[in-house]
Amino acid sequence: MCNLPPKFHSVCRLCLSFCGDNCSDVKLPIFDRDKDKSHLSEMITTYLSIMVSPEDMLPQVVCGSCAHKLDEFHTFRELTHKSERLLEQFLQYASSLSGSKEVSLNKTMINCNFILTTNQ
Ligand SMILES: [Zn+2]
Repeated sequence: MCNLPPKFHSVCRLCLSFCGDNCSDVKLPIFDRDKDKSHLSEMITTYLSIMVSPEDMLPQVVCGSCAHKLDEFHTFRELTHKSERLLEQFLQYASSLSGSKEVSLNKTMINCNFILTTNQ
C-alpha cells in the first residue's frame, strides 16, 4: 500500500478541493451509511460517467459546490425530458386535428400554452 497523505480522503472526489478543519464548506458523503447507492452516487455515475463505489479506495466525499452542480445537471435533465414529452404530446395533438385546414399559428400557440400550463 502506498503512503497516502493523511487528508487524501478529505478532498472532494470531483474537483479535488480541500479545505482545512476550519473551513465552512461542507463535504457531503457520496454514499449513505448503509446503502450501496445514493442520489449523489447515481448522479455522479449518470451525468459524469464516473464510477464510484463504497469499496473503492478513493475519496468518498464531494464539496458543496460540486453537489450543487450535480443538482443543476439533474434539474436540467428533468426539464429537457419534460420538454420532450410536451413536444411529443403537442405533435400528437396537432396531428389529431385531421380534416381541419392548416392550423393557424395563433391557434397553435394557444393550444401549446394550454398543454404546457396544464402539464406542470
Ligand atoms: Zn468539488
